[in-house]
Amino acid sequence: MLAILWQLERTQWWDPERLGAYQLLQLSALLRHAARTAPAQARRLAGFRDLAPGALTAEAFAAIPPMGREAAQAAGEGLRSTAPPAAHGQVGFGSTSGSSGRPMALARSELDVLTGEALLQRANQWFGRDMAWTQAYVGPAGARGEGRRDAWSRALPLGAAHVVDVRRPADEVLARLDAIRPQLLAIWPSLLAELIRLRPVPPEGLREVATYGETVPPGLRALCRERWGVPLRDGYSAEEVGPIAHECPHGRWHVHAEHVLVEVLDAAGRPCAPGETGRVVLSGLHSHAMPMIRMETGDLATPAAPCPCGRGLPALARIDGRVRDLVELADGRRVLPTFDEAALSAAAPGLRRYQLVRLRPGAVEARVVVAAPLAPQERRALAAAFAAGIEPGGASGDSGGGASSGHAPGGASGVPPGGASGLPAGSLAGVTVEVREAAGLETAASGKRLATLG
Ligand SMILES: [Zn+2]
Repeated sequence: MLAILWQLERTQWWDPERLGAYQLLQLSALLRHAARTAPAQARRLAGFRDLAPGALTAEAFAAIPPMGREAAQAAGEGLRSTAPPAAHGQVGFGSTSGSSGRPMALARSELDVLTGEALLQRANQWFGRDMAWTQAYVGPAGARGEGRRDAWSRALPLGAAHVVDVRRPADEVLARLDAIRPQLLAIWPSLLAELIRLRPVPPEGLREVATYGETVPPGLRALCRERWGVPLRDGYSAEEVGPIAHECPHGRWHVHAEHVLVEVLDAAGRPCAPGETGRVVLSGLHSHAMPMIRMETGDLATPAAPCPCGRGLPALARIDGRVRDLVELADGRRVLPTFDEAALSAAAPGLRRYQLVRLRPGAVEARVVVAAPLAPQERRALAAAFAAGIEPGGASGDSGGGASSGHAPGGASGVPPGGASGLPAGSLAGVTVEVREAAGLETAASGKRLATLG
């Protein structure tokens, strides 16, 4: 582990060409291995069965058709290698939680998992986190359940880590955190927003929040800084490969290029230039137990120009939510709803939780849990704040049968022609948001708490 970490400290400064050459070398071996031992990929990768070591070209790799989520789910265990390299250690099996639709098979080797843990340590170092800090991890508790773990990672047994089940109601999560007194809190952004709204004072001793698992909504960083007085740092990961990218102190997300290849592709399948939004296609360089080669993630991202920090790791300016959460408008364009948490809190200080549900084309219901009944002006302001998050610049107010010209969100299909950004403000047709106060919200065990559209 320490040896891996030592290597990763050096390779982050490699120039992009050297990192790219290293990736091709790794992919070369992975492709040959996958073509020979992953039954569900044999046909797709047939041309690579006899690939000589290091013979892969960037052009040949880019010609491999990306595999969609549905195809990957349908392939099931056929995605796994029947002969994972012994040198990569034991293989752990599982499946993704699959918040919607069928879960996907998983298999990761010890080497793959350890590399992921080393990458988390590297990200900790980017922010100068003290390894003796106590960490609270609010997330799926897994088979081991809640409680204290010996350490953040197996190889560096310093600070303790405590697991809190994400399915607990927010007030219980807060009570747990008060007892644990973490310096570092790892949590989903939507749940963090709930906790901050529930109580403007952080758990005692908290120094930093690390978010993961969802797009950080606009305004949440400011809310976290203003009310809790601590910075928020974001990471991007997937169960199939572990850590993919982390924010650097310059506010860009650096891809962990020694571990994953992230391609951001436009609608025609070409790489996006800095500033263009496209879909994320992922390859896992240590994924020999279940070769991940050009897999569609369903996420959107925007590449950035090289980062001033000098790291050669590719930089992303934004990582936008999930393609399946896009709302299609009447004119065929799709938008990604992003709700300004600060604006929502300003509109209705008593707001605790919310969930959005499609009612009919052009109409969305915002189910809200509030501390006290909403005053009429709060209700209107809240509806406007939600509408602004669905339709930038074209917000319309609360209920009463307004224009219903938006198109309802469908399932997962395709990608917006020009990406989710760059929409001309104020030029879109109306979407009506109806605010309904609810006693509680349904939270699927494996689902996210926020913005469930469609
Ligand atoms: Zn940087």
